[in-house]
Amino acid sequence: MPKLDFHPAGRHFLQIPGPSPVPDRILRAMSYPTIDHRGPEFGALGLKVLDGIKKIFKTNQPVVIYPASGTGAWEAALCNTLSPGDTVLMYETGHFATLWKKMAENLGLKPEFLGLPGIEGWRRGVQADMIEKRLRDDMQNAIKAVCVVHNETSTGVTSDIAAVRRAIDAAKHPALLLVDTISGLASADYRHDEWGVDVTVSGSQKGLMLPPGISFNAVSEKAREVSKRATLPRAFWEWNEIIEMNKQGYWPYTPNTNLLYGLSEALDMILGEGLDNVFIRHQRLAAACRAAVTAWGLEIQCADPAVYSPVLTGVMTPEGVDADAVRKLIYEHFDMSLGTGLGKLKGRMFRIGHLGDCNDLTLMAALSGCEMGLRLAGIELKGSGVAAAMDYLTRPARL
Ligand SMILES: *Cc1c(COP(=O)(O)O)cnc(C)c1O
Repeated sequence: MPKLDFHPAGRHFLQIPGPSPVPDRILRAMSYPTIDHRGPEFGALGLKVLDGIKKIFKTNQPVVIYPASGTGAWEAALCNTLSPGDTVLMYETGHFATLWKKMAENLGLKPEFLGLPGIEGWRRGVQADMIEKRLRDDMQNAIKAVCVVHNETSTGVTSDIAAVRRAIDAAKHPALLLVDTISGLASADYRHDEWGVDVTVSGSQKGLMLPPGISFNAVSEKAREVSKRATLPRAFWEWNEIIEMNKQGYWPYTPNTNLLYGLSEALDMILGEGLDNVFIRHQRLAAACRAAVTAWGLEIQCADPAVYSPVLTGVMTPEGVDADAVRKLIYEHFDMSLGTGLGKLKGRMFRIGHLGDCNDLTLMAALSGCEMGLRLAGIELKGSGVAAAMDYLTRPARL
């Protein structure tokens, strides 16, 4: 039976890898009255968030903010830079890479989907050498863009974007580099300028700790140049008019005012803690989570320790155990939501989110819920993951 009481005792544990829990501070900031989006107060807010968000992307170039989900910002990245029939090289890291590729097809582009065979590609990061080889073979420069997902939220694998940049440069290929870090931004190290990314796509509801509803395109000089000749139809997503009006802190249409209050607060929180400290916190919690999974005797979806995600951990259930049945048990007994297995991984794994507003005790509570649920599901565990995670978090070197 679905639960009809949405306010049970205690708090719900939203441990999916986005939307992540929204801190009270942000919820309160968002409750300020909506103001005139053409008035003077708004301009100050606009300038503050447009400047602050650049620090999160590590860029000095414009960041366009859309009142849309991440999917909208995916579309904006493609339709501002490409023309009908253009070949784009996309890399299959998992379900989100697959959805972005489907969108490229729907827009009339010709995506080539590169990746390791079968499920292997969904367990490892982008293989930059495969991209380099394909680009070297493209003597006519038919490939107009390389598209990769930085943090693949369906698997818990974070790819090396700097290596992709080096691969494009080594092949001396002019293709643009488009990167989705919808779930990586503000949780995993990301450097738009240093890594030479042309368009970075992100969203509000993951590391930024905001509700869903705004999304981003960080845009390089080269991408803006190329966009002048790109002919895919675009109107709402057109960068130029937005970037022009953003100079005064305004938008061509009504922006998402209350989410921008939230963004302003989120920037204060993240920059106040310090981006590097935010990344260290995520890595530490992710390592404690993996210690738990290993102690249970279960397998981690990511098969390459060099690219473990600091954002989420994919947990494979033993052969014959439906991961969604385990999730359902955990939801019903402990009021905790975990991420489902997506695409090729449906029923084979669940995902524990440890991003955004998460600390040691949040993680320990989440792991307790998982361990109790795994026991209730009758899965034989090798040992206590909760004990292993506590052990990890209390080692003197970790405090
Ligand atoms: C969440 C997510 C998306 C989709 O974003 P929406 O806001 O749901 O449209 C795309 N890519 C990645 C990597 C994501 O984590």
